[in-house]
Amino acid sequence: MSYLFPPTIPAVAIKNRAEQFPVHRIYCVGRNYAAHAREMGVNPDREPPFFFAKPATAIVANHARIPYPSRTRNFHHEIELVVAIGKGGRDIPVAQALDHVFGYAVGNDFTRRDLQTDAKDHGRPWDTSKGFDHAAAITAITPAAQSGHLRSGRIWLKVNGQMRQQADLSELIWTVPEIVAELSTFFELQPGDLIYTGTPAGVAALKQGDRIEGSIDGLDELVTTIE
Ligand code: MN
Repeated sequence: MSYLFPPTIPAVAIKNRAEQFPVHRIYCVGRNYAAHAREMGVNPDREPPFFFAKPATAIVANHARIPYPSRTRNFHHEIELVVAIGKGGRDIPVAQALDHVFGYAVGNDFTRRDLQTDAKDHGRPWDTSKGFDHAAAITAITPAAQSGHLRSGRIWLKVNGQMRQQADLSELIWTVPEIVAELSTFFELQPGDLIYTGTPAGVAALKQGDRIEGSIDGLDELVTTIE
């Protein structure tokens, strides 16, 4: 096999391992914390969470400097638990879903909020608001064999030392096993898939020079700077 252009495989570091985690697809859950659904103007009792996707090439490693994106004046942070899939499958039962999880990471689902609002208003897709370059920051993946499966624990994000988002994983509307099971009824999951599981309330605008720190109990701290 030869290629016209050399293919690049986006990859994420794995804690205490020499191998990298090759990223197949990036799936995201929208409005998976009730307080965040409300701040987006939606009643979480009437509208359940849903899925969207980002290209695998949107991945940004921990400690990166991220360029403030073009075509936005309202660039937002969204701290999230990320699930790394190690075993594929479709129509996975909830009771077996955790067998498909390789590990966990801390991610930031960066968003051009103004373009997303405009897309919602006009019934248009979210690619330009969610799927742009550098839109998926992520720490190294901690294998579940080291961390155990995460059901609760503090999730938080600070900008320039000021707390902006703070919640607990136990507040997820769809739990990790429910997300994996539900997603696998739409797509055949593959090893290398990442799932951003949704952000808590407190999303807000970033500006050039901002230092963003965030973490989840038991996982690495994600640090990025906007330039
Ligand atoms: Mn999100």
